[in-house]
Amino acid sequence: MNYRAVETESEYVARLETGADWRAEIEALAEAVEADAAWFTALGAVQDAELWFYDQDECEYYPIEYDEPLEVASCVGNVSWLDGERFAHTHAVLSDPDGTAYAGHLNEATVWAGEVHMRVFAEGLEREHDETTDLDLWPL
Ligand code: ZN
Repeated sequence: MNYRAVETESEYVARLETGADWRAEIEALAEAVEADAAWFTALGAVQDAELWFYDQDECEYYPIEYDEPLEVASCVGNVSWLDGERFAHTHAVLSDPDGTAYAGHLNEATVWAGEVHMRVFAEGLEREHDETTDLDLWPL
């Protein structure tokens, strides 16, 4: 395990725009407040979604698509730099009318309504490729 201390520089709350992309909206918030590293939580509802599951044997992401309205029962993620852009690494638990939950790495989803709390750190973080996992991770 590697770690470092972080200090909160500022905190924001935001309402996501209906019809926009969930993750792009969070990245737009990060861009607007110039967040070079942040942690966020969010909740709300989406009109559709694409989750990704990372296969650890094949080191590949596989998409799971939902073309129906779902609740965002929980969403957590962080913001850091990846390939020269602010990337919102976003995970979510989505639920359907029966309360059945679907969860994973959220690639995209169309916002119905969303509320976000973002905590911006004073120092930035940038992802680097990790040989072991074939993922872009923090090089702490
Ligand atoms: Zn992920």
